[in-house]
Amino acid sequence: MLCDVRLFNSLTREIEEVVPVDGKTVKIYSCGPTVYRYIHIGNMRSFMLGDLIRRALRFEGHDVRWIMNITDVGHMTDELTDTGRDKMELAESDEGLSAAEIADKYTKAFLEDSDLVGIERADLYPLATEHIPEMIAIIDTLIEKGHAYEVEGTVYYDVTTFPGYGKLSGNTLDRLRAGHRQELAVDPSKRHPEDFALWKVAGPHRALKWPSPWGDGYPGWHIECSAMSMKHLGERFDVHTGGNDNKFPHHEDEIAQSEGAVGHRVTSIWVHGGFLQMGGQKMAKSAQNIKRVTDLAEQGVDPLAYRLLCFGTRYRSEMDFSWEALEAADSRVKQLRKRMADWAPAAGSIGAGAKGFDRRFRSAVAGDLDMPTAVKVANELVSAPDVPDGEKYALLATWDQVLGLDLERDARERWEPTDEITALVAERDTARAARDFAKGDEIRDRLQAMGLEVMDTPEGTRVRPR
Ligand SMILES: [Zn+2]
Repeated sequence: MLCDVRLFNSLTREIEEVVPVDGKTVKIYSCGPTVYRYIHIGNMRSFMLGDLIRRALRFEGHDVRWIMNITDVGHMTDELTDTGRDKMELAESDEGLSAAEIADKYTKAFLEDSDLVGIERADLYPLATEHIPEMIAIIDTLIEKGHAYEVEGTVYYDVTTFPGYGKLSGNTLDRLRAGHRQELAVDPSKRHPEDFALWKVAGPHRALKWPSPWGDGYPGWHIECSAMSMKHLGERFDVHTGGNDNKFPHHEDEIAQSEGAVGHRVTSIWVHGGFLQMGGQKMAKSAQNIKRVTDLAEQGVDPLAYRLLCFGTRYRSEMDFSWEALEAADSRVKQLRKRMADWAPAAGSIGAGAKGFDRRFRSAVAGDLDMPTAVKVANELVSAPDVPDGEKYALLATWDQVLGLDLERDARERWEPTDEITALVAERDTARAARDFAKGDEIRDRLQAMGLEVMDTPEGTRVRPR
Protein backbone atom coordinates (compact mmCIF):
# COMPACT_ATOMS: atom_id res chain seq x y z
CA MET A 1 0.00 0.00 0.00
CA LEU A 2 1.48 3.32 -1.03
CA CYS A 3 -1.07 5.82 0.24
CA ASP A 4 -3.63 5.90 3.02
CA VAL A 5 -7.00 6.59 1.48
CA ARG A 6 -8.76 9.42 3.29
CA LEU A 7 -12.36 10.56 2.91
CA PHE A 8 -14.41 13.43 4.25
CA ASN A 9 -16.78 12.01 6.87
CA SER A 10 -20.07 13.93 6.82
CA LEU A 11 -20.73 12.73 10.37
CA THR A 12 -17.58 14.12 12.00
CA ARG A 13 -16.98 16.81 9.35
CA GLU A 14 -13.37 15.67 9.18
CA ILE A 15 -11.17 13.91 6.68
CA GLU A 16 -10.48 10.42 8.00
CA GLU A 17 -8.39 7.49 6.93
CA VAL A 18 -10.34 4.44 5.78
CA VAL A 19 -9.32 1.60 8.11
CA PRO A 20 -11.42 -1.56 7.79
CA VAL A 21 -13.05 -2.40 11.13
CA ASP A 22 -12.45 -6.11 10.57
CA GLY A 23 -8.81 -5.48 9.75
CA LYS A 24 -9.16 -7.11 6.31
CA THR A 25 -11.87 -5.94 3.93
CA VAL A 26 -13.27 -2.44 3.50
CA LYS A 27 -17.05 -2.74 3.40
CA ILE A 28 -19.02 -0.13 1.51
CA TYR A 29 -22.78 0.35 1.28
CA SER A 30 -24.26 2.69 -1.31
CA CYS A 31 -27.86 3.81 -1.50
CA GLY A 32 -28.96 2.60 -4.91
CA PRO A 33 -31.67 3.52 -7.37
CA THR A 34 -35.44 3.39 -7.04
CA VAL A 35 -36.40 1.35 -10.05
CA TYR A 36 -39.68 2.67 -11.37
CA ARG A 37 -38.13 5.01 -13.95
CA TYR A 38 -34.86 5.64 -15.80
CA ILE A 39 -31.92 7.01 -13.88
CA HIS A 40 -30.66 10.39 -15.09
CA ILE A 41 -27.00 11.32 -15.28
CA GLY A 42 -27.30 13.48 -12.17
CA ASN A 43 -28.10 10.38 -10.12
CA MET A 44 -25.33 8.54 -11.95
CA ARG A 45 -22.86 10.98 -10.47
CA SER A 46 -23.82 9.77 -6.96
CA PHE A 47 -23.60 6.13 -7.98
CA MET A 48 -20.17 6.72 -9.51
CA LEU A 49 -19.01 7.89 -6.09
CA GLY A 50 -19.25 4.41 -4.53
CA ASP A 51 -17.41 2.94 -7.52
CA LEU A 52 -14.68 5.57 -7.32
CA ILE A 53 -14.13 4.92 -3.62
CA ARG A 54 -13.82 1.21 -4.35
CA ARG A 55 -11.38 1.85 -7.19
CA ALA A 56 -9.27 4.19 -5.05
CA LEU A 57 -9.09 1.67 -2.21
CA ARG A 58 -8.21 -1.25 -4.48
CA PHE A 59 -5.58 0.90 -6.16
CA GLU A 60 -3.85 1.17 -2.79
CA GLY A 61 -4.10 -2.56 -2.18
CA HIS A 62 -7.27 -2.89 -0.11
CA ASP A 63 -9.77 -5.70 -0.41
CA VAL A 64 -13.19 -4.16 -0.87
CA ARG A 65 -16.73 -5.45 -0.66
CA TRP A 66 -19.25 -3.04 -2.16
CA ILE A 67 -22.99 -3.47 -2.14
CA MET A 68 -25.70 -1.27 -3.55
CA ASN A 69 -29.36 -1.74 -2.77
CA ILE A 70 -32.19 -1.65 -5.28
CA THR A 71 -35.34 0.04 -3.99
CA ASP A 72 -38.07 -1.99 -5.64
CA VAL A 73 -40.81 -1.11 -3.22
CA GLY A 74 -41.17 2.57 -3.95
CA HIS A 75 -40.72 5.14 -1.26
CA MET A 76 -42.75 8.25 -0.68
CA THR A 77 -40.55 11.29 -0.56
CA ASP A 78 -43.43 13.39 0.66
CA GLU A 79 -45.34 11.62 3.39
CA LEU A 80 -47.87 14.40 3.72
CA THR A 81 -49.30 13.82 0.28
CA ASP A 82 -48.99 10.06 0.62
CA THR A 83 -52.08 8.69 -1.00
CA GLY A 84 -51.10 5.18 -0.03
CA ARG A 85 -50.15 4.36 -3.60
CA ASP A 86 -46.65 3.21 -4.16
CA LYS A 87 -44.63 4.77 -6.95
CA MET A 88 -44.07 1.25 -8.20
CA GLU A 89 -47.84 0.85 -8.39
CA LEU A 90 -48.29 4.15 -10.19
CA ALA A 91 -45.69 3.12 -12.77
CA GLU A 92 -47.45 -0.21 -13.04
CA SER A 93 -50.74 1.33 -14.06
CA ASP A 94 -48.97 3.77 -16.42
CA GLU A 95 -47.01 1.12 -18.27
CA GLY A 96 -49.31 -1.88 -18.07
CA LEU A 97 -46.60 -4.00 -16.47
CA SER A 98 -46.58 -5.72 -13.09
CA ALA A 99 -44.56 -4.18 -10.26
CA ALA A 100 -41.98 -6.96 -10.61
CA GLU A 101 -41.72 -6.35 -14.37
CA ILE A 102 -41.27 -2.61 -13.82
CA ALA A 103 -38.54 -3.24 -11.25
CA ASP A 104 -36.84 -5.70 -13.55
CA LYS A 105 -36.99 -3.40 -16.57
CA TYR A 106 -35.52 -0.38 -14.80
CA THR A 107 -32.95 -2.39 -12.85
CA LYS A 108 -31.62 -3.74 -16.15
CA ALA A 109 -31.57 -0.24 -17.64
CA PHE A 110 -29.76 1.06 -14.56
CA LEU A 111 -27.07 -1.61 -14.80
CA GLU A 112 -26.60 -0.97 -18.53
CA ASP A 113 -26.24 2.76 -17.86
CA SER A 114 -23.82 2.01 -15.00
CA ASP A 115 -21.67 -0.11 -17.32
CA LEU A 116 -21.60 2.67 -19.90
CA VAL A 117 -20.20 5.23 -17.47
CA GLY A 118 -17.59 2.79 -16.21
CA ILE A 119 -19.17 1.83 -12.89
CA GLU A 120 -17.86 -1.65 -12.22
CA ARG A 121 -20.54 -3.98 -10.95
CA ALA A 122 -21.05 -4.05 -7.19
CA ASP A 123 -20.50 -7.33 -5.39
CA LEU A 124 -24.21 -7.49 -4.63
CA TYR A 125 -27.41 -5.63 -5.51
CA PRO A 126 -29.86 -6.67 -2.79
CA LEU A 127 -33.55 -6.00 -3.42
CA ALA A 128 -35.74 -4.33 -0.82
CA THR A 129 -38.63 -6.71 -1.51
CA GLU A 130 -36.40 -9.67 -0.66
CA HIS A 131 -35.56 -8.29 2.80
CA ILE A 132 -38.99 -7.74 4.33
CA PRO A 133 -38.40 -10.31 7.16
CA GLU A 134 -35.13 -8.58 8.10
CA MET A 135 -36.88 -5.20 8.18
CA ILE A 136 -39.67 -6.62 10.37
CA ALA A 137 -37.08 -8.09 12.75
CA ILE A 138 -35.38 -4.71 13.22
CA ILE A 139 -38.72 -2.96 13.75
CA ASP A 140 -39.61 -5.63 16.32
CA THR A 141 -36.35 -4.98 18.17
CA LEU A 142 -36.95 -1.23 18.07
CA ILE A 143 -40.41 -1.69 19.62
CA GLU A 144 -38.92 -3.99 22.27
CA LYS A 145 -36.23 -1.45 23.13
CA GLY A 146 -38.76 1.35 23.40
CA HIS A 147 -37.64 3.22 20.28
CA ALA A 148 -40.82 2.54 18.30
CA TYR A 149 -44.57 2.29 18.81
CA GLU A 150 -47.49 0.96 16.84
CA VAL A 151 -50.70 2.84 16.07
CA GLU A 152 -53.38 0.92 14.16
CA GLY A 153 -51.02 -1.12 12.06
CA THR A 154 -48.46 1.63 11.43
CA VAL A 155 -45.20 1.65 13.39
CA TYR A 156 -43.42 4.93 14.11
CA TYR A 157 -39.94 5.63 15.38
CA ASP A 158 -40.03 7.80 18.49
CA VAL A 159 -37.19 10.18 17.71
CA THR A 160 -37.08 11.53 21.28
CA THR A 161 -35.73 8.14 22.43
CA PHE A 162 -32.57 8.54 20.32
CA PRO A 163 -30.38 11.28 21.80
CA GLY A 164 -28.09 11.43 18.76
CA TYR A 165 -30.89 12.33 16.36
CA GLY A 166 -29.66 15.07 14.05
CA LYS A 167 -25.95 14.35 14.44
CA LEU A 168 -25.42 13.70 10.75
CA SER A 169 -27.55 16.38 9.13
CA GLY A 170 -27.60 18.96 11.90
CA ASN A 171 -31.40 18.64 11.98
CA THR A 172 -31.64 18.11 15.72
CA LEU A 173 -35.08 17.97 17.33
CA ASP A 174 -34.71 21.52 18.64
CA ARG A 175 -33.99 22.82 15.20
CA LEU A 176 -36.73 20.76 13.57
CA ARG A 177 -39.27 22.06 16.08
CA ALA A 178 -38.19 25.65 15.60
CA GLY A 179 -38.59 25.21 11.87
CA HIS A 180 -42.07 23.70 11.92
CA ARG A 181 -44.48 25.64 9.87
CA GLN A 182 -47.92 26.04 11.37
CA GLU A 183 -49.79 25.25 8.18
CA LEU A 184 -48.34 21.76 7.90
CA ALA A 185 -50.85 19.15 8.96
CA VAL A 186 -49.28 16.74 11.44
CA ASP A 187 -50.29 13.12 11.43
CA PRO A 188 -52.36 12.91 14.65
CA SER A 189 -51.29 9.33 15.38
CA LYS A 190 -47.66 10.33 15.85
CA ARG A 191 -46.41 11.10 19.35
CA HIS A 192 -44.11 13.79 17.97
CA PRO A 193 -44.32 15.51 14.58
CA GLU A 194 -40.70 14.46 13.87
CA ASP A 195 -41.43 10.73 14.29
CA PHE A 196 -41.17 8.75 11.08
CA ALA A 197 -42.82 5.57 9.85
CA LEU A 198 -40.97 2.26 9.94
CA TRP A 199 -43.95 0.27 8.74
CA LYS A 200 -47.17 1.50 7.20
CA VAL A 201 -50.58 -0.08 7.28
CA ALA A 202 -51.80 -1.08 3.82
CA GLY A 203 -54.85 0.80 2.58
CA PRO A 204 -57.65 -1.03 0.77
CA HIS A 205 -56.23 -0.38 -2.74
CA ARG A 206 -52.64 -1.21 -1.91
CA ALA A 207 -51.29 -4.13 -3.94
CA LEU A 208 -47.65 -4.22 -2.78
CA LYS A 209 -48.06 -5.39 0.82
CA TRP A 210 -46.76 -8.00 3.21
CA PRO A 211 -48.08 -9.68 6.37
CA SER A 212 -46.44 -8.47 9.60
CA PRO A 213 -47.03 -8.66 13.37
CA TRP A 214 -48.95 -5.36 12.92
CA GLY A 215 -51.13 -6.56 10.05
CA ASP A 216 -50.70 -6.25 6.28
CA GLY A 217 -48.52 -3.34 5.33
CA TYR A 218 -45.32 -2.19 3.70
CA PRO A 219 -42.00 -0.82 4.93
CA GLY A 220 -40.98 2.81 5.18
CA TRP A 221 -38.14 3.72 2.86
CA HIS A 222 -35.38 4.19 5.45
CA ILE A 223 -35.70 0.80 7.12
CA GLU A 224 -34.62 -1.08 3.99
CA CYS A 225 -31.12 0.38 4.13
CA SER A 226 -30.70 -0.49 7.83
CA ALA A 227 -31.81 -4.05 7.08
CA MET A 228 -29.76 -4.63 3.93
CA SER A 229 -26.56 -2.93 5.07
CA MET A 230 -26.38 -4.83 8.35
CA LYS A 231 -27.44 -8.13 6.83
CA HIS A 232 -24.79 -8.07 4.11
CA LEU A 233 -21.98 -6.07 5.73
CA GLY A 234 -22.48 -6.74 9.43
CA GLU A 235 -23.30 -4.49 12.38
CA ARG A 236 -20.06 -2.54 11.93
CA PHE A 237 -18.95 -1.50 8.48
CA ASP A 238 -16.70 1.13 6.99
CA VAL A 239 -18.21 3.45 4.40
CA HIS A 240 -21.76 4.47 3.51
CA THR A 241 -22.40 6.63 0.46
CA GLY A 242 -25.31 8.56 -0.96
CA GLY A 243 -26.24 11.87 -2.51
CA ASN A 244 -26.43 15.04 -0.43
CA ASP A 245 -30.21 14.76 -0.59
CA ASN A 246 -30.01 11.42 1.26
CA LYS A 247 -28.49 13.01 4.37
CA PHE A 248 -31.84 14.04 5.74
CA PRO A 249 -34.12 12.37 6.45
CA HIS A 250 -32.94 9.11 4.88
CA HIS A 251 -29.53 8.65 6.49
CA GLU A 252 -30.40 10.43 9.72
CA ASP A 253 -33.27 7.98 10.14
CA GLU A 254 -31.10 5.03 9.14
CA ILE A 255 -28.65 5.91 11.92
CA ALA A 256 -31.49 6.14 14.46
CA GLN A 257 -32.84 2.77 13.32
CA SER A 258 -29.57 0.82 13.04
CA GLU A 259 -27.89 2.23 16.14
CA GLY A 260 -31.16 2.11 18.08
CA ALA A 261 -31.48 -1.59 17.25
CA VAL A 262 -27.89 -2.74 17.89
CA GLY A 263 -26.89 -0.20 20.55
CA HIS A 264 -23.65 0.99 18.97
CA ARG A 265 -22.19 2.82 15.99
CA VAL A 266 -22.70 0.94 12.72
CA THR A 267 -21.12 3.04 9.92
CA SER A 268 -17.65 4.55 10.34
CA ILE A 269 -17.55 7.05 7.47
CA TRP A 270 -20.52 8.71 5.75
CA VAL A 271 -19.72 10.09 2.31
CA HIS A 272 -22.13 12.33 0.40
CA GLY A 273 -21.90 13.54 -3.18
CA GLY A 274 -23.06 16.88 -4.55
CA PHE A 275 -25.84 17.40 -7.06
CA LEU A 276 -25.53 17.84 -10.75
CA GLN A 277 -27.06 21.06 -11.97
CA MET A 278 -28.19 22.01 -15.39
CA GLY A 279 -28.44 25.70 -16.10
CA GLY A 280 -28.43 26.38 -12.36
CA GLN A 281 -31.22 23.92 -11.58
CA LYS A 282 -30.85 20.63 -9.72
CA MET A 283 -31.22 17.87 -12.27
CA ALA A 284 -34.42 16.15 -11.30
CA LYS A 285 -37.42 14.67 -12.94
CA SER A 286 -39.56 17.67 -12.10
CA ALA A 287 -37.07 20.03 -13.72
CA GLN A 288 -37.67 18.49 -17.15
CA ASN A 289 -33.97 18.34 -17.87
CA ILE A 290 -33.44 14.65 -17.58
CA LYS A 291 -30.64 13.09 -19.52
CA ARG A 292 -30.10 9.39 -19.54
CA VAL A 293 -26.66 7.96 -20.18
CA THR A 294 -27.94 6.46 -23.41
CA ASP A 295 -28.94 9.98 -24.54
CA LEU A 296 -25.24 10.84 -24.45
CA ALA A 297 -24.33 7.92 -26.68
CA GLU A 298 -27.11 8.88 -29.09
CA GLN A 299 -25.56 12.33 -29.37
CA GLY A 300 -22.28 10.72 -30.44
CA VAL A 301 -20.55 11.30 -27.12
CA ASP A 302 -18.64 8.49 -25.44
CA PRO A 303 -20.43 7.96 -22.10
CA LEU A 304 -17.02 7.60 -20.46
CA ALA A 305 -16.44 11.26 -21.33
CA TYR A 306 -19.10 11.96 -18.71
CA ARG A 307 -16.77 10.31 -16.17
CA LEU A 308 -13.93 12.62 -17.15
CA LEU A 309 -16.30 15.58 -16.98
CA CYS A 310 -17.30 14.60 -13.42
CA PHE A 311 -13.64 14.32 -12.43
CA GLY A 312 -13.33 18.05 -13.14
CA THR A 313 -15.32 18.87 -9.97
CA ARG A 314 -14.69 17.64 -6.42
CA TYR A 315 -17.34 15.05 -5.57
CA ARG A 316 -18.74 17.04 -2.66
CA SER A 317 -19.34 20.16 -4.72
CA GLU A 318 -22.30 20.79 -6.93
CA MET A 319 -21.45 20.45 -10.56
CA ASP A 320 -22.89 22.31 -13.49
CA PHE A 321 -23.58 20.26 -16.58
CA SER A 322 -23.18 21.66 -20.05
CA TRP A 323 -22.97 20.03 -23.47
CA GLU A 324 -19.97 22.18 -24.35
CA ALA A 325 -18.00 20.88 -21.37
CA LEU A 326 -19.08 17.34 -22.13
CA GLU A 327 -17.96 17.63 -25.75
CA ALA A 328 -14.61 18.99 -24.62
CA ALA A 329 -14.21 16.00 -22.27
CA ASP A 330 -15.16 13.70 -25.14
CA SER A 331 -12.40 15.11 -27.36
CA ARG A 332 -9.93 14.85 -24.52
CA VAL A 333 -10.68 11.17 -23.84
CA LYS A 334 -10.35 10.34 -27.52
CA GLN A 335 -7.11 12.29 -27.76
CA LEU A 336 -5.62 10.48 -24.75
CA ARG A 337 -6.47 7.10 -26.25
CA LYS A 338 -4.86 8.07 -29.55
CA ARG A 339 -1.70 9.28 -27.84
CA MET A 340 -1.40 6.02 -25.94
CA ALA A 341 -1.83 4.01 -29.13
CA ASP A 342 1.21 5.82 -30.51
CA TRP A 343 3.35 4.79 -27.55
CA ALA A 344 4.62 1.29 -26.97
CA PRO A 345 4.31 0.32 -23.32
CA ALA A 346 7.60 0.22 -21.44
CA ALA A 347 8.64 -3.09 -19.98
CA GLY A 348 10.25 -3.13 -16.56
CA SER A 349 10.56 -0.40 -13.98
CA ILE A 350 9.91 3.29 -14.45
CA GLY A 351 12.38 6.11 -13.91
CA ALA A 352 12.49 8.84 -11.29
CA GLY A 353 10.56 11.35 -13.39
CA ALA A 354 7.63 8.99 -13.88
CA LYS A 355 7.73 7.97 -10.21
CA GLY A 356 7.25 11.60 -9.22
CA PHE A 357 4.10 11.78 -11.36
CA ASP A 358 2.86 8.52 -9.88
CA ARG A 359 3.29 9.82 -6.33
CA ARG A 360 1.34 12.98 -7.14
CA PHE A 361 -1.47 11.07 -8.84
CA ARG A 362 -1.82 8.62 -5.98
CA SER A 363 -1.75 11.25 -3.29
CA ALA A 364 -4.47 13.23 -5.11
CA VAL A 365 -6.76 10.22 -5.42
CA ALA A 366 -6.12 9.07 -1.85
CA GLY A 367 -6.67 12.61 -0.51
CA ASP A 368 -10.48 12.57 -0.43
CA LEU A 369 -10.70 11.72 -4.14
CA ASP A 370 -9.17 14.92 -5.49
CA MET A 371 -9.87 13.96 -9.08
CA PRO A 372 -9.40 17.46 -10.57
CA THR A 373 -5.78 17.29 -9.40
CA ALA A 374 -5.40 13.67 -10.52
CA VAL A 375 -6.56 14.62 -14.03
CA LYS A 376 -4.25 17.62 -14.02
CA VAL A 377 -1.31 15.33 -13.18
CA ALA A 378 -2.31 13.00 -16.02
CA ASN A 379 -2.42 15.93 -18.46
CA GLU A 380 0.99 17.13 -17.33
CA LEU A 381 2.42 13.66 -17.74
CA VAL A 382 1.24 13.45 -21.35
CA SER A 383 3.30 16.51 -22.29
CA ALA A 384 6.21 15.97 -19.88
CA PRO A 385 9.47 16.20 -21.89
CA ASP A 386 11.57 14.18 -19.44
CA VAL A 387 9.44 11.00 -19.23
CA PRO A 388 9.88 8.37 -21.98
CA ASP A 389 6.71 7.55 -23.94
CA GLY A 390 6.76 3.92 -22.84
CA GLU A 391 6.70 4.99 -19.21
CA LYS A 392 3.87 7.41 -19.88
CA TYR A 393 1.92 4.53 -21.36
CA ALA A 394 2.65 2.28 -18.39
CA LEU A 395 1.57 4.94 -15.88
CA LEU A 396 -1.63 5.91 -17.67
CA ALA A 397 -2.59 2.27 -18.11
CA THR A 398 -2.14 1.73 -14.36
CA TRP A 399 -3.97 4.94 -13.41
CA ASP A 400 -6.86 3.85 -15.60
CA GLN A 401 -7.72 1.35 -12.85
CA VAL A 402 -9.00 4.46 -11.04
CA LEU A 403 -9.91 6.69 -13.97
CA GLY A 404 -11.90 3.96 -15.73
CA LEU A 405 -11.69 5.79 -19.09
CA ASP A 406 -10.66 2.76 -21.15
CA LEU A 407 -7.52 4.63 -22.15
CA GLU A 408 -5.99 1.59 -23.86
CA ARG A 409 -8.91 1.20 -26.26
CA ASP A 410 -7.13 2.48 -29.37
CA ALA A 411 -3.89 0.73 -28.47
CA ARG A 412 -5.81 -2.52 -28.12
CA GLU A 413 -7.49 -2.09 -31.48
CA ARG A 414 -4.23 -1.30 -33.18
CA TRP A 415 -2.45 -4.16 -31.48
CA GLU A 416 -1.00 -7.12 -33.38
CA PRO A 417 0.76 -10.09 -31.81
CA THR A 418 4.51 -10.42 -32.29
CA ASP A 419 5.98 -13.56 -33.89
CA GLU A 420 7.01 -14.75 -30.44
CA ILE A 421 3.44 -14.45 -29.15
CA THR A 422 2.01 -16.19 -32.21
CA ALA A 423 4.46 -19.06 -31.74
CA LEU A 424 3.61 -19.39 -28.04
CA VAL A 425 -0.12 -19.47 -28.80
CA ALA A 426 0.39 -22.23 -31.37
CA GLU A 427 2.60 -24.18 -28.97
CA ARG A 428 -0.04 -23.93 -26.26
CA ASP A 429 -2.81 -25.16 -28.56
CA THR A 430 -0.68 -28.14 -29.60
CA ALA A 431 0.08 -28.97 -25.95
CA ARG A 432 -3.58 -28.76 -24.97
CA ALA A 433 -4.67 -30.87 -27.95
CA ALA A 434 -2.23 -33.51 -26.67
CA ARG A 435 -3.81 -33.11 -23.21
CA ASP A 436 -0.56 -31.76 -21.78
CA PHE A 437 -2.36 -29.28 -19.56
CA ALA A 438 0.64 -28.60 -17.35
CA LYS A 439 2.52 -27.27 -20.35
CA GLY A 440 -0.59 -25.39 -21.52
CA ASP A 441 -0.79 -23.68 -18.12
CA GLU A 442 2.92 -22.91 -18.15
CA ILE A 443 2.62 -21.14 -21.53
CA ARG A 444 -0.51 -19.33 -20.33
CA ASP A 445 1.47 -17.99 -17.37
CA ARG A 446 4.23 -16.82 -19.70
CA LEU A 447 1.74 -15.02 -21.94
CA GLN A 448 0.11 -13.39 -18.91
CA ALA A 449 3.51 -12.26 -17.67
CA MET A 450 3.86 -10.47 -21.01
CA GLY A 451 0.82 -8.37 -20.08
CA LEU A 452 -1.67 -10.36 -22.14
CA GLU A 453 -5.13 -11.58 -21.35
CA VAL A 454 -5.40 -15.28 -22.27
CA MET A 455 -8.78 -16.70 -23.28
CA ASP A 456 -9.75 -20.29 -24.04
CA THR A 457 -12.22 -20.33 -26.93
CA PRO A 458 -13.62 -23.20 -29.01
CA GLU A 459 -11.17 -22.11 -31.73
CA GLY A 460 -8.23 -22.34 -29.31
CA THR A 461 -6.17 -19.78 -27.41
CA ARG A 462 -6.88 -16.11 -28.01
CA VAL A 463 -4.78 -13.30 -26.56
CA ARG A 464 -5.09 -9.56 -26.30
CA PRO A 465 -3.38 -6.85 -24.28
CA ARG A 466 -4.81 -6.49 -20.79
ZN1 LIG B 1 -30.48 4.15 1.50
